[in-house]
Amino acid sequence: MIYLDNAATTKMSDCALKAMMPYFSEIYGNPSSLHSMGQQAAEALFDARQRISSCIGCTPKEITFTSGGSEADNQAIISAAAMGAKKGKKHIISTAFEHHAVLHTLEKLEKQGFVITLLDVGEKGLITAKQVEEAIRPDTCLVTVMYANNEIGTVQPIREIGEVCRNKNVIFHTDAVQAVGHIAINVTEQNIDMLSLSAHKFHGPKGIGALYARKGIPLHTVIEGGAQERGKRAGTENLPAVMGMAAALEEACSKLNENAQKITLLRNKLISGLSKIPHSILNGDEKSRLPGNVNFCFEGIEGESLLLLLDDKGICASSGSACTSGSLDPSHVLLALGRPHEIAHGSLRLSLSEETTEEEIDYTVKVVTEVVSYLRSISPVWRDLESGKKEFIIKEGY
Ligand SMILES: *Cc1c(COP(=O)(O)O)cnc(C)c1O
Repeated sequence: MIYLDNAATTKMSDCALKAMMPYFSEIYGNPSSLHSMGQQAAEALFDARQRISSCIGCTPKEITFTSGGSEADNQAIISAAAMGAKKGKKHIISTAFEHHAVLHTLEKLEKQGFVITLLDVGEKGLITAKQVEEAIRPDTCLVTVMYANNEIGTVQPIREIGEVCRNKNVIFHTDAVQAVGHIAINVTEQNIDMLSLSAHKFHGPKGIGALYARKGIPLHTVIEGGAQERGKRAGTENLPAVMGMAAALEEACSKLNENAQKITLLRNKLISGLSKIPHSILNGDEKSRLPGNVNFCFEGIEGESLLLLLDDKGICASSGSACTSGSLDPSHVLLALGRPHEIAHGSLRLSLSEETTEEEIDYTVKVVTEVVSYLRSISPVWRDLESGKKEFIIKEGY
């Protein structure tokens, strides 16, 4: 199989797997236990926290381990909202194409009386710091903008947005789940107050992530119980997963530039190959995007049928995000770009990793081109478009 769904999840690296093993079978003590086995576990946990914090430019005390990106997003937003509510500030700024872990948390807050402003991301899927600046009000308590979009891969001007928020004294959170381990990040230099990350997006294990919260930002406890994670996230620590996450992050960050260069070349080759398909369009800005993300709309195509046929030919791909596939709603991300429903349905996301080869890219271009052409040949919609009964939305030479 050719795995081009790395934005959904990645394969665990050998180094992450190896780092986890001893913590299942040898050093399995509870870090809260006072005996030596527990203390050995506590030391490993301390060490992992330090290594993870140095990869993103913060201090170990600013890291809270969570069950993944979704929990980190939930905790970040709920914490900032609780702080804001105390001061009578109940306005939050975000974007229309955030991950559902952010959007659904905001919807919940809206029902509790918060006012949410979702910034327009434009046709290219980018916002500006100026948009954020203009949206900030005296009662704004939080700006939450994703670092890189999981469907279309666009990368936002995070440092500039952070600067605006810092100057206006508003907390800035970023869902950096797609960016950590793929793009160089330094929370201090980039004026980031809170950041979510998830190990399984950078070749670490699933079910583990972290929330960075700058010193002085009180976290709201989402899971009540014991005093783990400085009382902010109860439950016995998932030490094997934490050790796997630390190893995966260090590995990803040490090879970051090398991997990004290699993946970007293959991505560009894939984009130029797929652009030759008639009535196709790349979703998201060409330049400000993740090294490994390719996302296209093909007119007259059903995304689901395309995926199934690609699977038959040995290619794992995605249409929209994994969370929305299975539902018939078109992707909220593509709708946010202003793509009409019928176009948003015909989308394909291919996400690369450092293990992707040039042969795989060549094969994928060939197969996608053939499959799109086949699906169009049997589509009544396509017949109407070709005969001129209906007008093409994606014009030729777009
Ligand atoms: C995958 C993802 C999440 C969710 O992370 P989990 O660890 O799967 O909970 C959140 N935000 C973005 C942008 C993601 O890509």
